[in-house]
Amino acid sequence: MSEERQRSLHQVAVEQFQRAADIIDLKPQYREILSHPKNEIIVNFPVKLDDRSTKVFTGYRIQHNNILGPFKGGLRFHPQVDLDEVRALAAWMTFKTALAGIPFGGAKGGITIDPSQYSEEEMARVVRRFTHALGGNIGPEHDIPAPDMGTNSQTMDWVMDTYANITPPGARQSVKGVVTGKSLACGGSLGREEATGQGVLYALRHWCGETSARLEGLKVTVQGFGNVGSHFAELAADAGCHIVAVADHTGTVRADGGLDIHKLRSWVADTGGVGGFPAADEITTEELFSEEADVFVPAALENQLTAIRARSLKVRLVIEAANGPTTPHGEAVLADRGIEVIPDILANSGGVVVSYFEWLQNKTSMAWSLTDVDERLRSIVWAAHDEVVVTAAQHQCSRRDAAYIVALNRLADAYNRRGIFP
Ligand code: NAD
Repeated sequence: MSEERQRSLHQVAVEQFQRAADIIDLKPQYREILSHPKNEIIVNFPVKLDDRSTKVFTGYRIQHNNILGPFKGGLRFHPQVDLDEVRALAAWMTFKTALAGIPFGGAKGGITIDPSQYSEEEMARVVRRFTHALGGNIGPEHDIPAPDMGTNSQTMDWVMDTYANITPPGARQSVKGVVTGKSLACGGSLGREEATGQGVLYALRHWCGETSARLEGLKVTVQGFGNVGSHFAELAADAGCHIVAVADHTGTVRADGGLDIHKLRSWVADTGGVGGFPAADEITTEELFSEEADVFVPAALENQLTAIRARSLKVRLVIEAANGPTTPHGEAVLADRGIEVIPDILANSGGVVVSYFEWLQNKTSMAWSLTDVDERLRSIVWAAHDEVVVTAAQHQCSRRDAAYIVALNRLADAYNRRGIFP
C-alpha cells in the first residue's frame, strides 16, 4: 500500500464532496459547514465483566448534519473504531439520506470493542450503559441509531429498552422509534434485516436495465458475508446470478459454477465464517481481486480496493455495498480502466431507506407488508439511480460525483431557504 498517500478516512469523505462541490460551484459557506460534524459526543463508561472486574469502554456518537431531518446512522462495534472513522461514516450518512430524498440527516456511532471477546450478558451491559451515557443525545425526533458492523437487531432492542426505561412512564410507548433495525417483536419492520442487500440488488438490476445486461447468469464476487454481503449474495443467487467467490475474515472460497449460498449461510451460522466451506475451493484474499467475474461487491470494511487490487480486478462493475471500500488511488485506477463504480452513498442506501419505513410505522403504530416495503424501497432507490445517471450525463462526471451533486443540491436548497442562524 506504499503508493497510497495516507489520508484519514474523514479527509477522503471531505475530498469526495468537495470534488462535486467544485463542479456545481457550491457556496463556500455550505462547503465549510459540511466539512465539519455538528456535534461530537465521546463517552467513557464503566462496565462490570463476568469475572467481576470493571472495564472502561470508549463510545462515540458523531452528529454530522440535521438540516433535512433528525440525525440518522448506524452503531459500529469493532476494534478499529476511532473518532476519524466515525466522523467519515457520519458525513457519508448526511449525503446518503439527502440523495435518497428521505427526511433525515447524518450521524454515526460506535464503540472500540471486539464483541467476540465478550459474553452476551457482558454485551447487554455494554450496550445499556452506552445508551445511558448517551442519554438525551439520542431520541426519536433527534438522533436515531441503527445496526452497522458488529451490531444487530438484538443490540437495537437493548438500546430501545434502555432508552424507554430512562423516559418518563407516560411517554415510554412513543419512543420505539429511537432506533431502527429492531426485531419484529420489538417494533421492527419486515424487510429491514435484508434491506441493505436488497438495495444493492436493486442497484445491480438498475445497471442491467441501463446496459441491457441480463441479470441471470452474471458472475459476482463478494467481499464480506455479514448482514449486507450474505443477504445480497442470497437474493442475487435466487435471482439467477452466479456468486463465484466470497471472502470474509476467516477465508475466501470459490466455485466455478457459483457457490450454493443457502448452504454457505448455514455453514457460516454453524462455524462463524466462510473458511473451510466443504463445497468450494479455498483461495487467498488477493486471488479474490483477480477472479474473473462481471461484478465485484465489497461488503466488508473501508479501504479494501487499493490501486494494486484495482489493477488486478477483472470485472465490469463495482457496487460499493460497504462504506468507503475504494481508496482514492483505487478509484483513479478503476476510472482509467473504464470499470464502472456505483458509489456507496447510492448503492447501500437500502438499509437507511427501510429504517425510515420502520420509523414511520412506529410513529403511526402500523405494520406494512413485505411487498409494500420492497416496492417502496425499489421505487425510492431507483429514483435516486435515475437522478444520478441523468446528472452524470449532464456534467460528464462519474457516478460518485453525480451522487454528491444531487445530495449537495438538496442540502443547499434547504440552507438557501433557512439561512444560517442567527
Ligand atoms: P457485519 O458485521 O454484519 O459483517 C461484516 C463482514 O465483513 C463479515 O462477514 C466479516 O467477516 C467481514 N470482514 C471483516 N473483516 C474482513 C476482512 N479483512 N476481509 C474480508 N472480510 C472481512 O457488517 P455489515 O452490517 O454487513 O456491514 C458491512 C459494510 O456495509 C460496512 O461497511 C457497513 O458500514 C456497510 N453498511 C451496512 C448497513 C447495514 O444495514 N448493516 C447499511 C449500509 C452500509
